[in-house]
Amino acid sequence: MKTVTILGSTGAVGVQVLNSIAKHPDRFKVVGLSAYSNENLLRQQITKFNPTHYYFPGGAVEVQSSLFDFLEDEKNTKCLGSLEELAEIPADIVVSAVSGIAGLWSAVAVLKRGGTLAIANKESIVAAGRHLKALEKKYGGKIIPLDTEHSAIASCLEGENDKYIKKLILTASGGALRDVPKSQFAKVTPEQALSHPVWKMGKKITIDSATLFNKGLEIIEAMHLFEVPENKIDVVIHRESIIHSLVEFSDNSMKALLSTPNITLSIDRALYYPEKNTNSVSSLSLTEVGSLTFEAPDYDKFPCLSIAREMAKKGDGACIAVSAADEVLVEQYLKYKIKLTDIPTKLEKVLSKFEKIGNVNLDDVTRIDTEARKYTYSIGAK
Ligand code: MG
Repeated sequence: MKTVTILGSTGAVGVQVLNSIAKHPDRFKVVGLSAYSNENLLRQQITKFNPTHYYFPGGAVEVQSSLFDFLEDEKNTKCLGSLEELAEIPADIVVSAVSGIAGLWSAVAVLKRGGTLAIANKESIVAAGRHLKALEKKYGGKIIPLDTEHSAIASCLEGENDKYIKKLILTASGGALRDVPKSQFAKVTPEQALSHPVWKMGKKITIDSATLFNKGLEIIEAMHLFEVPENKIDVVIHRESIIHSLVEFSDNSMKALLSTPNITLSIDRALYYPEKNTNSVSSLSLTEVGSLTFEAPDYDKFPCLSIAREMAKKGDGACIAVSAADEVLVEQYLKYKIKLTDIPTKLEKVLSKFEKIGNVNLDDVTRIDTEARKYTYSIGAK
């Protein structure tokens, strides 16, 4: 029986993690849950999974107090003061499914107690992946990636010696705009950009998929998680999303991980590690799939991909700032305040403003993040 805490349990990934856990109550016991704003769902999850602790900052005081009233009657679930405190309570696995840089300090807390961190919180890896890896080594914990591409690469690297890695190859579905000509990008509505061809995910990551900034962030994520330089990480457009990523070795052989596209596979890989669950996803019929296709990404149509490569080359400061700016810009775009094409234009500006910072200490992350957000608002995000 493994104990599990889920940070961000009401988001798209958090809900899937709880679905996986609910199928095997004999294997897992939920000890901690947290949500950012979805009180109703958190309430249902607490009732169903009975964690010993939870955290809920709430959007409004009255929302928080109604949740408190409800739990006071339950008596057995304690509200903690922060996400970090929740991350510190003993659990065999802490799943970080929080969105944005808000997840960083809880990830640090898990690793500082030598814990296992199953992380879907891309922004924290992008901003501070170097530091998270250092903490993993120093305190003997373990980082397990939940992002499907990185989970696939980790699987491909099992039993291999890292010194033979020649390249990591991230696959990309191409996002919602893969067949929309660049000339129409300025007119793309949030609804269009949110209709992802394969994956059902949160809004921020779906917009990032449409601009391919998500794939760019995944390059940085892979660079930190597997300690491979940016120029050894390739991206290939693979529409079928059957191959979740690949590794090329020094002998020019390649290993790939294939399955029906379903995030449950990477979630189960993290929850059951080092074992495997039975029938995590439906069996893949290669003959039904028939053929798999691969295309080079169009860097001209998707400038966000080049921006991310520049971020990776310039170091932590650029990564923290541009990733923070993207959080602001995506939110603005979803509110119809800016055009989709404003996202790369403004990210470029933020990059040139912050690129000289280079690498920084963990303590500087929050400050740079805040400065970058302020700057992003100042350059015309309303
Ligand atoms: Mg991914």
